[in-house]
Amino acid sequence: AIAVLGSTNMDLVAYVPKAPRLGETVTGRAFRTVPGGKGANQAVAAARCGARVVMIGAVGADEFGVRLRSALTADGIDTAGLRTAEGASGTAHITVDDEGGNSIIVIPGANARVTGLEAGDETRIAAADALLLQLELPLEAVLAGARAARAHGVRTVLTPAPAQTLPGELLAATDLLVPNEHEAAALTGLTDPGRCAAALLEAVPEVVVTLGAAGVLYAARGREPLSVPAPRVRAVDTTAAGDTFVGALAVALGEGRPMPEALRWASAAAALSVQRPGAQDSMPTRAETDALALA
Ligand code: ADP
Repeated sequence: AIAVLGSTNMDLVAYVPKAPRLGETVTGRAFRTVPGGKGANQAVAAARCGARVVMIGAVGADEFGVRLRSALTADGIDTAGLRTAEGASGTAHITVDDEGGNSIIVIPGANARVTGLEAGDETRIAAADALLLQLELPLEAVLAGARAARAHGVRTVLTPAPAQTLPGELLAATDLLVPNEHEAAALTGLTDPGRCAAALLEAVPEVVVTLGAAGVLYAARGREPLSVPAPRVRAVDTTAAGDTFVGALAVALGEGRPMPEALRWASAAAALSVQRPGAQDSMPTRAETDALALA
């Protein structure tokens, strides 16, 4: 099983010809509400890959919270560890213009109320093959989760997004760090992905830097770095490509597959997700991923 300790957000997406400037009002083309949040996205990605998934976090006591929870249960995800906190659910207010450019306001809402583990969470984590962590919950909660996973010998996989300085204690409790190239640069102050990965290996034993259409770079202490190209596809929407990759990678590793094979399989899952619009909507099933990975 895969455990996720992370965020749930309702994405409120406004499609506009051109984003408004300060003080300006524009007429948009369309509006959509779609379940998101990096934690929930990774949980859905793992569930579509066929894993048993438990989600730990919080939704708000509002209509969005009801919808966020039911989006997870619709994918068979166990939400017993997903609290309903007082107040609003997390929301992301997204403006997408005709060029595909976006600007985003995230209001953490219920996610900010997750400050540690609660009854049952440690058991949920202990029963998993891996714990997936991101940085959309308060750091103290992320740390508590990482510590619990460590105590039970559960692999911790950290997506360091949104990018921020990481406490040494969190890095010390991380088995696999999966930054995209911007996050890797922000963490190290370096630009070349290979150098970033080498620098990060001083803090964690394994790193995967995701490079968009250029694929991924894997580095581990004492081993030659491995570069895995992405399948060549026509991308229409790369939202949650990284989350799809991480969810699929965790499932493959949890099944005991070797890292190179797991990386290729997760790259296939992510490549499928970018060919379709949406975040959770775009995530492939296990059969689809198998078909592309074997092609
Ligand atoms: P994030 O979504 O976190 O910004 P990336 O842009 O690096 O991260 O994308 C994550 C992964 O998704 C990539 O490593 C790759 O496997 C896949 N991916 C992203 N964009 C494309 C693309 N245009 N074609 C094929 N695969 C892609």
